[in-house]
Amino acid sequence: MRALVISDIHANLTALETVLADANSFDVTWCLGDLVGYGPNPNECIERIRSLPNLQCIMGNHDAAAVGFIDVDAFNPDARKTVLWTQETLTPVNKQYLRNLPERINLEHITLAHGSPYKPIWEYLLDTRAATVSFECFDTPYCLVGHTHLPVLFYLPDDRPTAQLVVPEHVSQMTLAPRAILNPGSLGQPRDHDPRAAYAILDLDNYTWEWHRVNYNIPEVQERMRHENLPERHIARLSAGW
Ligand code: ZN
Repeated sequence: MRALVISDIHANLTALETVLADANSFDVTWCLGDLVGYGPNPNECIERIRSLPNLQCIMGNHDAAAVGFIDVDAFNPDARKTVLWTQETLTPVNKQYLRNLPERINLEHITLAHGSPYKPIWEYLLDTRAATVSFECFDTPYCLVGHTHLPVLFYLPDDRPTAQLVVPEHVSQMTLAPRAILNPGSLGQPRDHDPRAAYAILDLDNYTWEWHRVNYNIPEVQERMRHENLPERHIARLSAGW
């Protein structure tokens, strides 16, 4: 079974369509939250993601903010401006969809959580210390997370008490041993100084994990953001991936 793993789409429809064309064929879709926020096409992204085969989708902090579950004051001024714009722009049907998303999904082999299995909506899994704690918070062989916008893999070796970190600088495909926490990176707003859209393919027949990056038409998205009067800082960061 080939799973498309996407996260932090952030209303970037151009990046989403490019990734879907690049990923080609997959049996299931696992979406790790933050469908909206920052980008100019929240409705179109939700509708496109809902159309994907065998979708499992969880809620991110920006999705929660867009439907009023999180106070906008929890965001910095630029992010707050976009949250308010997103709240005004979303259709009632799409708001209802976001409102009903679970914070965490436990499948047979996989746990899905936006930030971490410990604190699904908010925790940023940035280091091996936090990852070590997280390994105690799920029972499946693998846990998929997003939220940091950084593609990483944490694994727990048999002979060491703390989690170890792998980044896709030298390796883009790995055969997985249980257990691991896997982050595909951000599809719509990468922050690892690589502006290309990120996604991953998890093959559960062969237990392989592949990180993918794909170029997409960034100026087209920036143009649409400008048209919607979204913050200049968020427009600029798309070209540099920060
Ligand atoms: Zn995000």
